[in-house]
Amino acid sequence: MLDIKDLHASVEGKTILRGLDLVVRPGEVHAIMGPNGAGKSTLSQVLAGRDSFRVDSGSVQWYGQDLLAMPAEERARAGLFLAFQYPIEIPGVSNAYFLKAAVNAVRRHRGLPELDAMDFLKRVKSEMKTVGMSQEFLYRSVNEGFSGGEKKRNEVLQMSLLEPKLAILDETDSGLDIDALKIVADGVNRLRTPERSLIVITHYQRLLDYIVPDYVHVLAQGRIVRSGGRELALELEERGYGWLDVPVPAQE
Ligand code: ADP
Ligand code: MG
Ligand code: MG
Repeated sequence: MLDIKDLHASVEGKTILRGLDLVVRPGEVHAIMGPNGAGKSTLSQVLAGRDSFRVDSGSVQWYGQDLLAMPAEERARAGLFLAFQYPIEIPGVSNAYFLKAAVNAVRRHRGLPELDAMDFLKRVKSEMKTVGMSQEFLYRSVNEGFSGGEKKRNEVLQMSLLEPKLAILDETDSGLDIDALKIVADGVNRLRTPERSLIVITHYQRLLDYIVPDYVHVLAQGRIVRSGGRELALELEERGYGWLDVPVPAQE
């Protein structure tokens, strides 16, 4: 479904990704780990189509299509979902309005009828119950004044409503206490199907105790320097990144 070949990307003239390769097939869960500043968030931003990130060379295919040629909204409609380390706040736009617009945009793209207000509310309320969110969050501005844990729950809610083909979680676990972490993990695990894939970007292996990956990759200095099964995450937890024979950049 996703085929990244020799990807080079830069931000503000600074080269960050230096020849990254990654293949994700339907139903697979890939964890990407790596030291701070390795380029993990840059990868997710490039896949999301953020303007400030420049692709210098390489290719990204999405079901055989050129993903990099697709505008950001088109990527989302085509089933790519990105949850970010720092979720955006949208003052003045209610969460309910935002979610309904997003869900219906995806449904239109898939040739499904749009949900009317009643059907949407029924669905969203049932999903909110599952992720443990109070309904008051429907009527608040998107992420505005949400605590860290509330933003993460909101992301899981967005993700379950949008039913993406591939979801990318960029340090969705950062700053979460163990209960919030379990909610995120449960929400993600409920979404696991034989067709749906996940890329879980995380600095720590803790999340991977709950979301068990099929593959673990180490991103360092802008490329994947090692790949393995879940045991690689445990090894990294124990030994850090220093034993990998790549220069490790200074901590941010
Ligand atoms: P990671 O997510 O692995 O910690 P990032 O992709 O966030 O790494 O960052 C990789 C490098 O790119 C870092 O050196 C970071 O300082 C730099 N970088 C990221 N975003 C920007 C930006 N908007 N402007 C300048 N440098 C950036
Ligand atoms: Mg970072
Ligand atoms: Mg990051």
